[in-house]
This record gives sequence, C-alpha cells and structure tokens, in this order.
Amino acid sequence: MTISLKNYFYFLFFVLITFFIFCYPLFSACTQSLNTQGIISDWVAKDKAYLNGRKKLYYYFEQESIDYILNIDGPIKVRSDPFYSQEVALGKALLNEVDKYIGLDFFQVKTRKEADFIILGVCERETVLDGIVTTSLDGTKAIMTLNGCNTPFSSKHPPETLFLHELGHVLGLEHPFDKSDGDCIGSVDPWSEGSAHTGHTLMAYRDPPGKVRTFFTELDILALQEIWGRN
Ligand SMILES: [Zn+2]
Repeated sequence: MTISLKNYFYFLFFVLITFFIFCYPLFSACTQSLNTQGIISDWVAKDKAYLNGRKKLYYYFEQESIDYILNIDGPIKVRSDPFYSQEVALGKALLNEVDKYIGLDFFQVKTRKEADFIILGVCERETVLDGIVTTSLDGTKAIMTLNGCNTPFSSKHPPETLFLHELGHVLGLEHPFDKSDGDCIGSVDPWSEGSAHTGHTLMAYRDPPGKVRTFFTELDILALQEIWGRN
C-alpha cells in the first residue's frame, strides 16, 4: 500500500491536533516561567493578620523529649527528638542569614509560650514526610516539624534544604506545583521533568541537575521580600 503525500500530511495534521488537544491543558495549567506569585501562598494574608504589623518573629527550638499533638488532618501524637547543639547552631545561622534579606527579624526565645513558631525535631520512620508545618491546636503558633529519620542526609538532601523548605512554609511560601491558589510553576506533578526543581526554588521537591543548593534561591528571596519587604 502506498500513501499519497497529501494523505500523509492530513494524517500528520490529525496527529498533531489530537496531541495538542490532549496535552495543552496539562502544559497550560501552570506557567512555564519562574515567577514569585507561583510560590507565594494564599495563607500569607492569615500570617500577616496574625502579626498585625509586627516585624519581630520569635522562635523556640524544642530541646526536651516531650509529646506534641500535631494537627495533620486531625490530631497526631509525636514524640520530640531533641536536636544536637550543632543542629540548633545551623538552624540559627540559617535564620540569621534569612533575616539579612527580609523585613522580619528573628529572635530565639526560651519558652514555648513566647514563640510564634516552634522548631520541632522528630524521628518518624513510618512516614514519607520529611517535614511539615502545622498550626498548634489552639491556633496560636506554627509548629515546624523536621523529621530526622526519613531522608538519608546525602549530599542531595543536606539538612539546610529541609530546614529552609519548612521555614519557607512558615513565612508564607508554597510549593511551585501547588495550584490550590490558582497558580503553579512548571507542572502540578512535583516529580515530572517539567516541574520546577530545587535549583529554581527550595520550595520544589525535585533535585536539580548538578549540585544541590544549601540556601534559598534568588526567586525565594524575591518572593519573601515581596511578602515581608526588604531588610
Ligand atoms: Zn513543603
């Protein structure tokens, strides 16, 4: 059987049209350019209302082994796994570095009660969660939980990345693939080729080609400055 050139082009045209009809919504669902709006969450308004113009933010490192009730679609009890002093030092150094860029100032406090956010270490092996930010049951503070027992801290997953990713959530950043507020970057699938990677924003999941970053990207800083102003 021979196919005429005309029929061949008709066929090609048909295939291309079908391809675009099926694939266009997938591609068009997210913007393909890096932009701050794509990582600014819709809970920023709530954070700002809570702070009510206050520029000082107080944090507490959980250093005792006690039970916490986290609100993850209902109450979940976890036991804290106190940080080593060098982990606290690293966290503080990262907070001080972020402080230099944005219009908020971070201060460590000695009691949980004084804190706006608690930094909590846990060791949970039976979960895929590396970390999560939740609101305390009484709604008065954020709890930034870091799971030290899930991710192997390989060079691809340095502790800085996890700490800053969760801090980003505390400060109002969302995942680039999160479309719940109407926008997203790259793709809604965090692991797909088209999705943003952590070289674009630490709020992504996917590893970048080459070296992993250990501090917020330029886009992250711009987004945080858009929310909180510059230092
Ligand atoms: Zn996250």
